[in-house]
Amino acid sequence: MKTLRVVMVVVLAAAAACGPDASNNEGGGDDSPVPDAPVSVQVDAPPATTAGEPGSACACDADCADEGGNDGVCISGVCMTKATGACASAGSTTECPSGSRCWSLDGSDVGPLCWPDCSAHTCAGMCDSDGSCVPTQQSNCEVTCGSACACTGDAQCGMGNRCVQGECVPEMTTGGAPGMGPGPACPGLPARDCTGTGCGSLVTFNPRTNTAWDDYAINGETAANQYRSYLRKDLQMLVSYATSVTACKTATWMTGNGGALGLGDMSEAYGAIPGTSVGSPGHPAGTHVNGYDIDLAYYQTGTANNRLRAICSHMNGTQDAYHCLANPDKLDVWRTALFLGTVFESPRTRVIGVDGKAGPMILSALDTLCDNGWLSTAACGNVALAYETTNMGQGWYLHHHHHAHISLKSASALPPASPLQTGKKRVPGRDPGIHRVR
Ligand SMILES: [Zn+2]
Repeated sequence: MKTLRVVMVVVLAAAAACGPDASNNEGGGDDSPVPDAPVSVQVDAPPATTAGEPGSACACDADCADEGGNDGVCISGVCMTKATGACASAGSTTECPSGSRCWSLDGSDVGPLCWPDCSAHTCAGMCDSDGSCVPTQQSNCEVTCGSACACTGDAQCGMGNRCVQGECVPEMTTGGAPGMGPGPACPGLPARDCTGTGCGSLVTFNPRTNTAWDDYAINGETAANQYRSYLRKDLQMLVSYATSVTACKTATWMTGNGGALGLGDMSEAYGAIPGTSVGSPGHPAGTHVNGYDIDLAYYQTGTANNRLRAICSHMNGTQDAYHCLANPDKLDVWRTALFLGTVFESPRTRVIGVDGKAGPMILSALDTLCDNGWLSTAACGNVALAYETTNMGQGWYLHHHHHAHISLKSASALPPASPLQTGKKRVPGRDPGIHRVR
């Protein structure tokens, strides 16, 4: 096993993104049993013994020497080189100079890398279980000049952006940002957590529609036969609670439409993927089964209601790109962030996936809502928002321009996938594709 710290990449039976051609669900979430350590700041990594050599410390790509046809690159404070092509296999040597082996970096678009062997190089980081020199949890580099670094301050992120937990995200100053929370007390909310028996039984929303949620007929359903709208009772309770909190707390917000949140595909009555009974499963195998998953609209602005629809430009001419090509212009980022943040209150929430353009905006808004007291400490410490700004095959990149996807943790989990299987290594302290605000 080659994970660099105790992170379980759990591929649950019901745990992955949705969308018809999210062909690879592996890594569609991270079910870490331990809270993430904060991304620490240490731009001044330990002094290197041989400047520029693979394994030596760096702040910028320019600090790292090329080796033949392999370009030097700075990865979280450790010099490596880029592979000349995709890794033929995990740890292959043909794409790398001698003394380095090929793996990708999970969650990064830097491309395949040549990870220095500790046996061949002096290592400024630490040696992992297969003898590669890897960054430590504390090491970092300059985001402005290194290929895989965490930001440490807003100034590094450029105009209009801010740094949230190592990531540059857009500053959300428009759209009627709410002031200080926590807002109204909201008595009489539906219970958040399911206790006792029957929490795993498949149920429907009751009522179908109220001022908080809107489980309308979608994707071939009729009002008389909402066959795609069954979910676990515990997930139904959580969504009922979080939409009710949102309706109450945001009642006076001047952002977006207000109103109920549209609900999309869940599972079929006996737990099958929606569409199975009509011969057309609408989601990849392993997703939307047994009521662990639900698709939900984004809260919107400038539309008639908050039902599932694209919140952004997603067409390349006549070709649908199936993801946002520009920042969303119909997203009520504040209500969406308050709603998703409320879902994160529950320790049962595994991951919420959103579009790669919406994700950074929502993360930024979540951070502000946490700072301003709208969300609880527990919620702010449990933010597990998944999005892919480039397609890394985790299943979130496509088909989330018109909905978010909530996945609940299962009671039991499968063993983690090892880097031998995935061909990817990780940087300690960073969850690939999973973005956290606290
Ligand atoms: Zn889904």
